[in-house]
Amino acid sequence: MGSGARHDAKFGMTNPTSAGAAAGHGARTSGYVGRLAPSPTGALHLGNARTFLLAWLAARSRGGTLRLRIEDIDGPRIQAGAAAATLDDLRWLGLDWDGEVWVQSQRLPVYADAVARLFAAGHLYPCVCTRAEIDRAASAPHGPEDDGPVYPGTCRGRFPSLAAARAATGREPALRFGVAAAALPFVDGCAGPQAGILRGDFVVQKRDGGPAYQLAVVVDDHAQGITEVVRADDLLPSTPRQLALYRALGLQPPAFRHVPLVVGGDGLRLAKRHGDTSLRHLRAQGVAAAAVVGHLGWLAGLVPRGTSCLPADLLPGFAFERLPAGPVRGDEHGLLG
Ligand code: GLU
Repeated sequence: MGSGARHDAKFGMTNPTSAGAAAGHGARTSGYVGRLAPSPTGALHLGNARTFLLAWLAARSRGGTLRLRIEDIDGPRIQAGAAAATLDDLRWLGLDWDGEVWVQSQRLPVYADAVARLFAAGHLYPCVCTRAEIDRAASAPHGPEDDGPVYPGTCRGRFPSLAAARAATGREPALRFGVAAAALPFVDGCAGPQAGILRGDFVVQKRDGGPAYQLAVVVDDHAQGITEVVRADDLLPSTPRQLALYRALGLQPPAFRHVPLVVGGDGLRLAKRHGDTSLRHLRAQGVAAAAVVGHLGWLAGLVPRGTSCLPADLLPGFAFERLPAGPVRGDEHGLLG
């Protein structure tokens, strides 16, 4: 495991601004390695743009390295052109990253190898249950509805091998991780001490042989040498599962920092129904990148509302402690006329 990132000309691998970043935002002298991990399932909007800005600020303020990886293993939900559009939006905002862009769909053998190791060590079992949760497993679960009910363990101990499961049922099995611990407590950099409850056995490989999000994210965060994961706090419940995988694979987990979500006026995760906050739309309306960055900085508690600035202008006063504690209400107000 570890190598296997392939160059993909489609996404313009060589980030034109990363050389400038090394010079402009401090030499990468620290051991900090962060990452941006967009899923190309739709347009980048103010909510995920703020999370990416925070991950960028975390890395650059520490003189660290920032990796970028496209999480495109979720076949049906991937939108053509969304990966390139996301990279374009990130560059437009003035965010940069270091080294090549990794693309998960090009690393399938690496995930299969990790699954084989987990299977050989007795952590996995074939599961022939036809649950929607298995089909959704390639996506990061952004809410209980993505995750479904706790798996009751129906197939646990039922089949000695994939072949036996196929022969007995005529179905193509998924592979589930058998959770051994009730909880894996951890301290989150933003959310504080967490009980780390593990919600039942979870899928690591879908029926079609493709990896689940939980598996791919662990393999890649390790392979990219990530020391801290900065992401939105709707993924907090996934972290104990990822810790269980690190443990089973004998790998050192990164630190985790889950930032509060940006929500709409109704308190729900920012979405289309709150108005079009996609960067695409804002750009098309003639909103300047500096206005969007300032708005995101305001949503992060870093600058007053109405500020226009570059990402680097937010570095001097940057601290996660300045983030508003709860969900932040974000809209396009003040950005569109
Ligand atoms: N690619 C995932 C998403 O956009 C994020 C995964 C992660 O940060 O762990 O939903």
